[in-house]
Parts: sequence; C-alpha cells; structure tokens
Amino acid sequence: MIPYGKQDINQNDIDAVINVMQSDYLSQGPKVAEFEQAISESVGANYSVAVNSATSALHIACLALGVASNDLVWTTPITFVASANCALYCGAEIDFVDVEPTTGNMSSSALAAKLLLANANARLPKVIIVVHMAGHSCNMKAIAQLAKQHGIKVIEDASHGIGGSYQSKKIGACQYSDITIFSFHPVKIITTAEGGVATTNSKPIADAMAMYRSHGITKDPALMERPQEGDWYYEQHHLGFNYRMTDLQAALGASQLTRIDEFVEKRNTLAAIYRSQLTDLPINVVEPIEQSYSARHLFIIRLLQPDKRKAIFDAMRAQGIQVHVHYFPVHLQPYYQKLGFSVGQFPEAERFYRSILTLPLYPNLTAEQIGYICNNLRELLI
Ligand SMILES: *Cc1c(COP(=O)(O)O)cnc(C)c1O
Repeated sequence: MIPYGKQDINQNDIDAVINVMQSDYLSQGPKVAEFEQAISESVGANYSVAVNSATSALHIACLALGVASNDLVWTTPITFVASANCALYCGAEIDFVDVEPTTGNMSSSALAAKLLLANANARLPKVIIVVHMAGHSCNMKAIAQLAKQHGIKVIEDASHGIGGSYQSKKIGACQYSDITIFSFHPVKIITTAEGGVATTNSKPIADAMAMYRSHGITKDPALMERPQEGDWYYEQHHLGFNYRMTDLQAALGASQLTRIDEFVEKRNTLAAIYRSQLTDLPINVVEPIEQSYSARHLFIIRLLQPDKRKAIFDAMRAQGIQVHVHYFPVHLQPYYQKLGFSVGQFPEAERFYRSILTLPLYPNLTAEQIGYICNNLRELLI
C-alpha cells in the first residue's frame, strides 16, 4: 500500500528521543522550551507555545483571544473538524465562510459579502480562523484587511503549512494574524507523534496561552496577583487544561525541524513530477496562489467529472494506492447539521468536496511510485 502521507524518521530523531528517556525530565522540561525557541526562530515569530496537539492549540488560541459564550467565530467548511470545534469548546457559536474553487481556501470575496451582512445585523465574529489547505496560503492580505476594518482577530490554522511562506515571510510569522497554529501529527510536515504549537508576536497572548496549557496556573512572579509566599507558591487565574507537550515529543520535534527545508523542497519536487505527468488529464491540480511557497502537505486534484470520483477512489485503493479526500465539509457533519447547518449553504465548498481526490505525497515517495499512481489514474480517467 502506498499511503497518502507518511513520516520520515531518521537515526538522529531516534537518538534525540532516547537521550530524553535517559534524562531527568520526561514531561514538559528544557526540551519543550528549546523546541519553542527553535520554532520561533524558524518561522520568525516572537513567541511559541507548544502543546499536545493542534486541536489543543486551537482551543487555547481561541481562549487567549477571549472567545466565550455569546461570541461568534467563523471558519471554512473545507477543513478538519478541529478548526470549528475549538469555538464550540469555548461555548461560542460557529459559522462558515465559503471557499475559493481554485484552492479550497476561505474566499476573501465571500468573506467581504458575509461581513457586510453581519455588520448590518450587528452580529460580527470575534475571531476568524483561516485554514491553509494543503499548505497553500490563503489570501492573507485581503482577509486581514477585512478583519481589521471590523476589529476581528485572525487565527491561521496552518496545520498543513509549516515550512511554507507567503509574501516572503514564513507562515507562522503572524504577519497578517494574531496567532498561527501548526500540527505535528505524523502525516503532517514534521512530527512529534502527537503535538502542536501556537505562534504569536504578542506577549500577553503568549502568556495567556501558556497559562491555559497548564491548568490556568502561573509560577511567574511578574504575573502574580498576590505576594509570593515562597518557592512552592503558584496561582491559578483561569480554568485551564493539561495540554502540555512532553520533552520526548519536543526532542523529536526539534530534531525533525532541522530537516524541514529538505522535507518541503522534496514535497515541491514531487508535486512538480506529478504535474508533469498529469497535464493531459481531465483534472485541475489545486495549486498555491502567487507570492507564496507551499509546504505541500497534500497533493489535491479536482476531477472535471466528479461523478467518477467514487469509482476512481475505490479502484485506486484496490491497486494499493491510498488516495484520500480532504475534506468532507464540516457543516455537513451530522453534529453540525444538528446545530442547524444545511445542505446547499456553502455551495462552493460542497462542489469542491464532490470533485476532489488527494494523491499520496510524502518525502520518501519515489518518482516510480508517482509513475504508478499516474498510470492508474490515467487508465481510470480516459
Ligand atoms: C491535522 C489538523 C488539525 C488537528 O491537528 P491535531 O494535531 O491532530 O490535533 C487541525 N486542523 C487541520 C486543518 C488539520 O489538518
């Protein structure tokens, strides 16, 4: 079976984890702080807060931006459910903005139209969560301009995007956002087995996220509300969680991070090989916008004959090719339907979903395997 995504673990990664096993710290210790520092330097952000998943990172990002009950958060229907669930964890309401047909990313024109209406109804979102699908950057400049006009905060769910850039700044630099989230699940660009990080340029936001990560507790004398009673003393200021990353995970992440440029270059090289072999087929390749460099988490194509998708998917799986579909629109999930969302509400997202197919892409995929995948696809399409 050729999987759709796969981690690349080398001996240095293994040694890094074993070293922590033999050290004094297994849970959050010095390696987490080192990993956070390395992430900040790599993406050009002032602060990083590492946690046990991107889902947790999205949750504490929303909390740090003050999302609470009676607030509204907007995201895109073409994403993993976690991008929407985080608002519901905070007791807020969620709504969606339709996507661009070319990238599957949040459409800035759909956003402008929805904001106009929301402004007239005095029901604006507090936070907008954009998702860089496949690692392809959203049109952040336009989205940030619209958000700014209405005082709305922006979170980038860049679970697919570490190692990519937009307008010559790394994704994660938060050039056009308040917080950026990365995932380190094994199928993503670099891995910590499970893990995630939130980057920001704001100290208060970073401090709040660090507090929510660990029970809402602070040990920082500068943040205390009362006099320090002694070395044992800590204060709980918020209702937080145990979302901490372990030193084992951080050591793996720091080791993986040293190869991030290599991983992303390899993914771009493989994507170019795919493109050269798919030129004459009745498909469109989902490609990044101008002025951006994609981390290429996923290689997504759109079939011009969507009614063939199921048969092609099943036939490719039968040939040992683990094609996939990213994503089933969140608003069509049974849970979200019960919240009141309905079929037809975000037509571009639904059209996008019906036509897409994800082809395998990961650093160790070979040109021969791409040839095999493309030959199978060709036979099924023509
Ligand atoms: C993978 C993913 C997440 C969740 O990441 P975890 O680290 O598994 O919690 C959130 N959003 C998107 C877009 C993802 O692809």
